This record gives sequence, structure tokens and C-alpha cells, in this order.
Amino acid sequence: MVARHFINVLLPIATILGVVANAAAADAASPDQQAAELARKAVAGPTAMDILTSLTTEVGPRLAGSEAEKRAAAWARKYFERTGFDKVWIESFPIEHGWARGVEKAEVTSPSPQPLIVTALGGSVSTPPEGLEAEIVVFKTYAALLAAPTNSLKGKIAVVTAPMTRAQDGSGYGVAVHARGAGPSDAARRGAIAFLLRSVGTDNHRVPHTGGTHYVDDAPRIPAAALSVPDAEQLERLADLGGPVRVKLVLTPRDLGAVTSQNVIAELKGRDKPDEIVLLGAHLDSWDLGTGAIDDGAGVAIVSAAAQLIHDLPQRPRRTIRIVLYGSEEPGLLGGKAYALAHKSELDRYVIVAEPDAGQGPVYKFYTGVVNPHEPTLARIRAALASLKIAAGDNSSHGSSDVEPLVDGHVPAVTLAMDMTDYFDLHHTPDDTLDKVKPERLNQSTAAYAVFAYLAAELDGDYRAPATASGATK
Ligand code: ZN
Ligand code: ZN
Repeated sequence: MVARHFINVLLPIATILGVVANAAAADAASPDQQAAELARKAVAGPTAMDILTSLTTEVGPRLAGSEAEKRAAAWARKYFERTGFDKVWIESFPIEHGWARGVEKAEVTSPSPQPLIVTALGGSVSTPPEGLEAEIVVFKTYAALLAAPTNSLKGKIAVVTAPMTRAQDGSGYGVAVHARGAGPSDAARRGAIAFLLRSVGTDNHRVPHTGGTHYVDDAPRIPAAALSVPDAEQLERLADLGGPVRVKLVLTPRDLGAVTSQNVIAELKGRDKPDEIVLLGAHLDSWDLGTGAIDDGAGVAIVSAAAQLIHDLPQRPRRTIRIVLYGSEEPGLLGGKAYALAHKSELDRYVIVAEPDAGQGPVYKFYTGVVNPHEPTLARIRAALASLKIAAGDNSSHGSSDVEPLVDGHVPAVTLAMDMTDYFDLHHTPDDTLDKVKPERLNQSTAAYAVFAYLAAELDGDYRAPATASGATK
């Protein structure tokens, strides 16, 4: 009220001086104040939680290339249109192999019959309908499997029981997940007829973690499943007794052949430099066991809510903010690769990109991946993020998940690193559900993305290599 009164007093003077006074502009907060206000609104909620609740309840699980994923895309398009984004569209792309889960059962048949809790790895081939039964060979490290000679696993089921390390930065995942992707082919090369993996996860619950596996062309394709952590430990103990241990496995997933998936794109058009893009991504697909609340429903909610809060400002930021909700991330960044291919002629338009795909947060560190990390506007972004208890990191960001193919094309990126300490307790399990998400964590992450995206779109800073920065203000 005080500010408005002050403007009323000043206006006649401005008119006398011949200055075109714009009451709205005079009243406008500085970008830094605007960012602080965005953060306040995001932290207060409830926008992100509302979006996440709607997605996980009204759509539910949304496997890559499935009808459910198409419903998710329709849900997203409707949400963006209803919210009033300036442009909303869907880009479809083909994927070679759709995949659907079937029956999945396993049991120890000797020496002490008992059930095992398993789930097929994404992309796994099936066993015969009646299943297969064989002696297991347990490897406590992946290196031990790789050291096994050719044909040494002939007719056997290979079991890798290496544990994953819990870490705030999620660094235990990269080490452990290699066995999930390459394990079935490496085991098949040595003669194995099936592959079982201790779930790539940090919990000790009796729920298995799925996730994509990738066969190579020069090895037989064998069925592959993840064991819950307690079941993997049980097989280790049984094997340590010294006698043969036999397991029966039934997996009946189906290869659906060629299907389509899609990326959903929504824009807030920049008021001054509409051709320059600040891109925030997240992936709309999820595994099918839970409802994909933390992977990556949380990311979808964070970037969508951040953009919605920016949409609600009195005026658009100077640059365009583009939200891309990618399809088919889980089978291997298919949406991210399709997007980078379809948009390869405009890579120089991306001022900076970011994607949350690490759960609900909170965000604790801000890494850049830019030509000049000392660019002055980055200091203002770091200062705004510091008020959300986010520390400044180094310049090692390579983006994450679906935006990585853009970063491979020399697009600058940032990583708003999220606390992943408990992420891999839930990741890719039936337990990845809405009740695990804490509004205060999701809201802080939303605040971080809103602040970052707004300032990157509003301030003059350019983070691209000089050769690709086309006419941008330095
Ligand atoms: Zn993900
Ligand atoms: Zn995932």
C-alpha cells in the first residue's frame, strides 16, 4: 500500500518531465525479489503436491510405450492447457520393442524348498511357460562373474549378490547398476540359462527393484530378474552351506514389438527473447510396479509446478521457458534421444537445461556445466538458492537423464542435486507410491527449480559457448 501511494505522488512529476511512466513497471519487484517471492510461494505449496497426486492417482503406473503412458501424456497436455501455458504440443516417436510384464515366480526347490520374491528386469525375455529349474552359482561381486571362464555356467542360473552402497549423492547406483544392464549377456556368454540379481536398492524389505536390462547381439538372450535383498542374502547363505542349491524360475513377460511413445512439451513464451530457451525436463513414464511417485512423478510435479508459479507472475520472463515431459526414459533415455534428434537444428537456442530425476529432494547443491562458471548472473542464482539452504557446487554438471543427449550436443546444463539418501529404498519398487512423498521436501525442490528457471530466463547471463550464443546479450 505504501509503495502504491508513493507512485501516485510521483506520477504527475514523471508526466511533467515527459517520462513515460508505467505504473506496473514502477511497481514491479527486481528479479531477485521476484525469485524470493517465487520461492516463498513454492515452499508454501500446494501446487507440486496437487500435480503429483493427480498424476499418480488418475493415471497411476505408466510403462514406456504403453496405453497408460499415452493416458499420462493426455493428462499432461490437459494440465498445461488448463493452466494457460502459451503453447502445448506432443511429439510422438517410435520405439522398437514395447514390453509387458507377465507372471513372475521363483522358489528354492532344494535343499530347503521356499519361495523367493522376484521381479523381471525390464526387457527380459521369458522362461518357458512352465518355467525352468537349475542349480545356481552365486557371485558376491560382479567382477567375480566376469572372472568365470567360458562355459563354466553351462546349464546354471547365475546369481549376482553385490550390495549397493547408500549415499546422499546416489553414487552407489552407478556402480551397482552396471550388473543390471550387462549381467544377463555376460552370464549367457559363460553358458548360464537365467540371471538373478540382488535388487539394485538400499532397503532390506522384501520388495524387488525392477529396472531395464540390455542384451547384446552376440550372446543368447536369457531370462533376467531381480531378487529382493533378503532373498538374495538367503541364496548367499544357502550357497555358503556348500551343497548344490536349485531354483525354479517362471517369468512370462512379452515383447510387444513396435509401439509409439511421446514427449509432451509446454512453453511460457519469453516476452523479450522468445527464441532463447531455458529447458526443464522430467520423465513421464515410470516402471509398472508402483505409481512412479518418486521416479519420476516428483520430477514432473517439480518442473510443472515451478513453471506454473512463473506463469502466474504479472509478466513472462524475458526468455522462453520450455517444459519437456519425456516418454520412455526407463528403457534407455528413448524420449531424450528422440527429442535431441528432432530438435538438433536448434541446439544453439538452449541457454541452459536441467532435469530432476532423483526423487523428491530436498535439493542440497547446485552444480553448473557452463563455459564460464564465474558469469556474474550465476552468482545471483547461487545467492537465491542459498536462501533455500542449497550450497554452491563445482562446474562438473552434465545434466541428468533425458537432457543428457542435449548436453552431448554442447548445450549448457545445471544439476540441482537432490538428497538421494533414501531414494534407492523405493526406486523401481511396488513401494514407489504417493504416501512416501513429503510435501516439504517436494516444495523445497520446486522452489529451487522455480528460482533457477526464472532467473536464468529473466537475467542477461549467457551460459553457452560464444560460438553458439547467437546475438545474446553478454
Ligand atoms: Zn527416473
Ligand atoms: Zn527409473
